[in-house]
Amino acid sequence: MPGIWVMRIGHRPQRDKRVTTHVALTARAMGASGIFVDTADPVLEENVRSVVERFGGDYSIRTGIGWRDALNGFDGAVVHLTMYGQRLEEGLSKVPFDRDLMIVVGAEKVPFEVYEQADLNISVGNQPHSEIAALAVFLDRLTAGKNLYSERDGKMSVVPNERGKTVVERTS
Ligand code: SAM
Repeated sequence: MPGIWVMRIGHRPQRDKRVTTHVALTARAMGASGIFVDTADPVLEENVRSVVERFGGDYSIRTGIGWRDALNGFDGAVVHLTMYGQRLEEGLSKVPFDRDLMIVVGAEKVPFEVYEQADLNISVGNQPHSEIAALAVFLDRLTAGKNLYSERDGKMSVVPNERGKTVVERTS
């Protein structure tokens, strides 16, 4: 699959800092290449970059990028995750696997233009829940779980362990 990007809209730095951080980290952990966040938030950028610095991989974050700019400059397919969208299995079958993908998730009310501009509006069930959960389930289904334990060559890596915590730190 080519690059996967996430566009987080409606970010309010004070109120959403934990949720947006978790959206960004979930996207990274599950194989996305980077995230755009509509409201400028240097603290959020610093926190996410610190995880990338320690745990590795290629992952970028840019904040202060409006969804129109991100979508207009994007050469790929746009998927908007919304409880009102088509069923997950149906939507997934229409995702083009040979193009970059931009996945849009909201915070509060999402402007209707996003529904119109998206190539696909896809639901993860049609009950209201969370952008973090919707993104995790969608990415897991999209990638068939293959990024969950992929090697990121970070300074720190966690070794799966039946009990206890094993973390290997690279010194060089
Ligand atoms: N009430 C808002 C609306 O009408 O757009 C949704 C708010 S919800 C807390 C925040 C985001 O979570 C949504 O914008 C959507 O991206 C995602 N989300 C929540 N439930 C979802 C579902 N069942 N399927 C897909 N995405 C969902």
